[in-house]
Amino acid sequence: MPPTTITVDYLIIGAGATGMAFADVLVTESNHTMAIVDRNQAPGGHWTMSYPFVRLHGPSRVYGVHSRAMPSDSVGANLASGHEILDYYDRVMRETLLASGRVTYLPMHNVDDVEPGGPATVRAHSLVSGASTQIAVRKRVVDASYMNITVPAMRRLNYDVEDGVPIVPVNQLVNLGGPAERFTVIGAGKTGLDACLWLLHHGVDPDRITWITSRDAWMNNRDQEAPLSRFRELTKLHACNSVDDVINALEQMDLIIRRDPRVRPSAFRCATVSSAELAQLRKIEHVVRLGRVRRIDSAGVRLDEGSIQSPPGTVYIDCSADGLTQKPPKPVFADNTITLQTLVPCLLAPSAAIAGKLECLDLDDDSRNRLAPPVVNPSTSRDLLSFFGTRMERLHRWSGSPALFEWLLGSRLGSALSDLQEMTDQGNRAAVSLLASHLEDLLKRDGVSA
Ligand SMILES: Cc1cc2nc3c(=O)[nH]c(=O)nc-3n(C[C@H](O)[C@H](O)[C@H](O)COP(=O)(O)OP(=O)(O)OC[C@H]3O[C@@H](n4cnc5c(N)ncnc54)[C@H](O)[C@@H]3O)c2cc1C
Repeated sequence: MPPTTITVDYLIIGAGATGMAFADVLVTESNHTMAIVDRNQAPGGHWTMSYPFVRLHGPSRVYGVHSRAMPSDSVGANLASGHEILDYYDRVMRETLLASGRVTYLPMHNVDDVEPGGPATVRAHSLVSGASTQIAVRKRVVDASYMNITVPAMRRLNYDVEDGVPIVPVNQLVNLGGPAERFTVIGAGKTGLDACLWLLHHGVDPDRITWITSRDAWMNNRDQEAPLSRFRELTKLHACNSVDDVINALEQMDLIIRRDPRVRPSAFRCATVSSAELAQLRKIEHVVRLGRVRRIDSAGVRLDEGSIQSPPGTVYIDCSADGLTQKPPKPVFADNTITLQTLVPCLLAPSAAIAGKLECLDLDDDSRNRLAPPVVNPSTSRDLLSFFGTRMERLHRWSGSPALFEWLLGSRLGSALSDLQEMTDQGNRAAVSLLASHLEDLLKRDGVSA
């Protein structure tokens, strides 16, 4: 069958949080046409494959798209559930994007290779019928898949498991069909935290949980999320003289927390917990810190730095996928491509909306790239300094661009930068810039790992 051909201004690869946030700004702030192509059968990206009890771990008012509030924005801690998120993206697709008459949506389609600098015509094929669509792109190809988020349901285990050992991906935890003698949770990221909290919430005695964590991590304290005076509070960091000093000060300010006060974490992966959740997690005493899992058999678990025995009746819960990859940064705007990346650490949806706004502003690509240098997502505890420093630096950078700044001030996603309003004051602008430079200097000077 000959391929169908469509012609659009933009091709957006991926209908996850970033593709949707970008498309929404383009639809609401320009007259351009676009095709959105995604392998999944519904918009929402990795949320379409998440475990049933997943929720946002940051507030919904800084998630989603610019033009539409999330139902949870004004409810309690604003932690939308996976179902709400999928319903939200379905509505954004139907009621905003498709209703504009300027969007063609191709779910269950794969975009085949796009050459860098690339062709004006890109081929997508249906993962169901195999039919091809040629997409002629007048302006740009937008890669909203570059960050390559992985959740446990998407990948094979990266350790060996003997046949017959009961191990389930976190998505299956709700389908066990009966209690287990013991639960061993593998992974200490956001998903591992959620699995432990879910087990405790359902009355599992903490003594029946083993938690395998390759690295302890600092976590954001949700009780302190986005206090309006955050930058004022953070100016205290000027007094710090080393990376360790800064981390200690952040902990004293209660902005970051750790699960075990006796263990200094070496990681920071943007996970966020409340103090109530932390109190629950601290009830789990059987925490295994022997590196990564290599093999699980009927006797127990072999890890990088030792082994543990498991009693009969242990069920293993795999929560070990990397939901926050460290992709090498590249220019967001280049020739006829846009590569959506993180502009504000850990906040991919606002980052994509900002890239969308920059595309709509009358700027050349050099100016756009100067306003939108991408950052690498955090991994180690040292990255806490970039996490806070980059936010300060972005406040300064963006408040110097009147058109972008005005838009951010009126945008629901702009509230991700909690001190935006304060940046109308020149003194405050100078203060955030100084603080960002101080943190960067400390990182350069203090090469040892914190
Ligand atoms: C469990 C979990 C909880 C999280 N909670 C929060 C939170 O509370 N707050 C927050 O800000 N962030 C949170 N995050 C971070 C989150 O990953 C991002 O906010 C965001 O959802 C990432 O979206 P994305 O569009 O970059 O990626 P994805 O969701 O991975 O979407 C990419 C899409 O591209 C499609 N695609 C890829 N290649 C192709 C191709 N060749 N052809 C067609 N389609 C293609 C894929 O099918 C996919 O749908 C969380 C992440 C996880 C894993």
